[in-house]
Amino acid sequence: MTTRDARTHCPYCALQCAMTLSPSVAVGASLDVGGREFPTNRGGLCKKGWTSAELIDSPQRITSPLMRDSRGELVPVSWEEALDAVAGAVRRSRAEHGADSVAVFGGGGLTNEKAYQLGKFARVALGTSRIDYNGRFCMSSAAAAGNRAFGLDRGLPFPLEDLDSASTIMMLGSNVAETMPPFIGHLAAAREAGGLIVVDPRRSPTARLTDDGGGMHVQPTPGSDLILLLGLTHIVIAEGLHDLEYLERRTTGFERVRRSVSSWWPERVQSQTGVPVHQLRAIARRLAQGQGTYILTGRGVEQHADGTDTATAAINLSLVLGLVGSANGGYGTLTGQGNGQGGREHGQKSDQLPGYRKITDARARAHVASVWGVEPASLPGPGVPAVELLQSLGAENGVRCLLVHGSNVVVSAPDVAAVRAGLARLELLVVCDFFLSETGALADVVLPVTQWAEEEGTMTNLEGRVLRRRKAIDPPAGVRSELWILSELAHRLGSAGEFSTEARSVFDELCRASEGGLADYSGLSYDALDDDSAPAYWPFPRGSSGTPRLFADGFAHGDRLARLVAVKAVERHPAAQKDGVVTLITGRLLEHYQSGAQTRRVPELLAAKPEARMQIHPATAELLGIDDGSRVQLSRGEADVHCRAELSLEIRPDTVFLPFHFGGEQSANLLTEQVTDPISGMPEFKRTTVRIRSLDTA
Ligand code: SF4
Repeated sequence: MTTRDARTHCPYCALQCAMTLSPSVAVGASLDVGGREFPTNRGGLCKKGWTSAELIDSPQRITSPLMRDSRGELVPVSWEEALDAVAGAVRRSRAEHGADSVAVFGGGGLTNEKAYQLGKFARVALGTSRIDYNGRFCMSSAAAAGNRAFGLDRGLPFPLEDLDSASTIMMLGSNVAETMPPFIGHLAAAREAGGLIVVDPRRSPTARLTDDGGGMHVQPTPGSDLILLLGLTHIVIAEGLHDLEYLERRTTGFERVRRSVSSWWPERVQSQTGVPVHQLRAIARRLAQGQGTYILTGRGVEQHADGTDTATAAINLSLVLGLVGSANGGYGTLTGQGNGQGGREHGQKSDQLPGYRKITDARARAHVASVWGVEPASLPGPGVPAVELLQSLGAENGVRCLLVHGSNVVVSAPDVAAVRAGLARLELLVVCDFFLSETGALADVVLPVTQWAEEEGTMTNLEGRVLRRRKAIDPPAGVRSELWILSELAHRLGSAGEFSTEARSVFDELCRASEGGLADYSGLSYDALDDDSAPAYWPFPRGSSGTPRLFADGFAHGDRLARLVAVKAVERHPAAQKDGVVTLITGRLLEHYQSGAQTRRVPELLAAKPEARMQIHPATAELLGIDDGSRVQLSRGEADVHCRAELSLEIRPDTVFLPFHFGGEQSANLLTEQVTDPISGMPEFKRTTVRIRSLDTA
């Protein structure tokens, strides 16, 4: 029952816009949404946020555990029956095939408390090293690059409001106008100064913000971002625009980077990226003007098999310009998922323990084990990243039981046909969700869970700022919180360690476990977070007041210096554009979030964007006999996607665009491959060669 207004935040993206949930005045609705003043959104919400309360009343919610019956159909069962079945199957698998035959797959939308508890549950209750999460598909390249350069990874190492006074902002591979529209307010000064530079192969709504003197749209060949960044660094150094005093005082590795970019002269970069020399020089000079310059990367440049090196090249450019940690600029990466930042700090990554600690670090293991009440030696070692974990499903010596939380891998993972085949080989697939997602529909057991407005919790937004989510309404009878489910399963498995069901006490434990780590939350508590205006940026060690701006006095490496890391690029050539062969890029729409499992269940959002449409340039469409709205097939090997075409001048003639929010035959990730970045494990999502043809041609 709703009793009073709840001050909370949106259930979707990493901007975590502040909102108020109130008892609804409308018949048939539970909650009304109001925008709330907060530094990131200033009262604004996008249409996803405004319609988010419809998730609560959706008739498609699951309100009872489901299990397969003898006919193979999912039917309602009691919680005891479902949990006993899961615990029994897990026990058998562990006894017959070892602890690593059971795996956990988490999500970047889970609260800090759930992400933390999931990591603890895997290591303590299951004893498995096999845990990873969908953030591997999201932030892993930028995180790896940040850790390598700065010794620490926080998406934005400064408050978002710092952008308000910037005269130049270069955004690479980010479409905030659709993914997080209230963000645009922070670009106003840069646009006013003509200094917004948007790098995107598509003339996206964000790229259009550069029109009318707002700045510059740069439209490189898909996948050539690394070369573009090397070329810009080359020009900055060649024209003497670099900050030598900063480089000598605050960094190491400049000489190696200088040598590594020396062969990327502008004409060569133009031939590889398609970006004209005069535009390359104009960008470099603008970035070096030094009146508040920020370089921001997003998934478009990070979701590649060279994503870590591309993010590293963006960091190198920022360091060469003397921006990072200065009062007058910086580098940041724009986290996408709601808790993409917190989700990677608390232990659901295969190689990490809470506090952003390495699982191989003996001191970290000892500290976390003491908080968990277990022996350090009992904790498993590092597992494997998400794609490798999914490849091992049902394989010999691979995973036999999989528990999925807050993730819809059948839509969001690369090469979803292979993922689907792996899931089918499992002995047990358990999915915790509030809707029957495409992944849930394949499960042996589905456990219905509470939604954001029905529970307490914390999230860490794209600035590294910790926020309270507050309960606004009781959940339907029959659903349970994930904390309760993990506690029940741990109990049934005879686990050591306590598994609290209360978010507040899990948060207190998380804060203790993080103490002394990079992402130190030990000075925080629910009470400290009750005042929403409190700038609760981590690291927030006990007795401190948090850290809104990082790197002002030094970086997190032992010598306090940032690392410039020389990276290499391979030459890129656009798809042949012969016989219907083009480059596919994937991305998002304003109306949908991630796999669409939630937003496709909001009637207004679904009505506005009911299906995937392949964006194609009219000239390419004419060559291939494709009309606007006609049906097309996109193919890679034996994988096909079927959808409708949308003719658009916003896309390059050698490229097509497909949103990835849809499942079934429209799933863009039927076409992406399980090729990954060797450092971060990030799959190659943003550059796939496909063949397209019209299905309506006689
Ligand atoms: Fe804000 Fe993102 Fe929610 Fe839109 S989806 S209201 S931008 S948090």
